[in-house]
Amino acid sequence: MSEIEIKCLVCRTQTKEANDIALTTTVEGREIVITRLTGSRCPTCGEEYLDSDSSEKVEELIKKFRKPKVIFKRKITKSGGRRVIGIPDEIDRALGKKENVEIWLEDNKIIAEVY
Ligand SMILES: [Zn+2]
Repeated sequence: MSEIEIKCLVCRTQTKEANDIALTTTVEGREIVITRLTGSRCPTCGEEYLDSDSSEKVEELIKKFRKPKVIFKRKITKSGGRRVIGIPDEIDRALGKKENVEIWLEDNKIIAEVY
């Protein structure tokens, strides 16, 4: 751990190293709590400052919790008497070589589990 001297931005007191900082943040409506972060804390007013390692950790975790909201619109077409939905290129690339799929219906959603 580094010994950087940081003065509290709120009350100017010398802060002390801390390894038990908890941060609560909201990602897409979900509240997530990240614990055991390192940095420093003000002994007077309790203000907390994350070090650079912890800031990076927080950013990575937030990225993980953020779901991509890309929705592809396709028309159901007919092929050989069957109704067919094309797999968008982006999704196909992400699937790699997987070529088996289990499909079921949930209300009006077609769920496809690929393996
Ligand atoms: Zn302070």
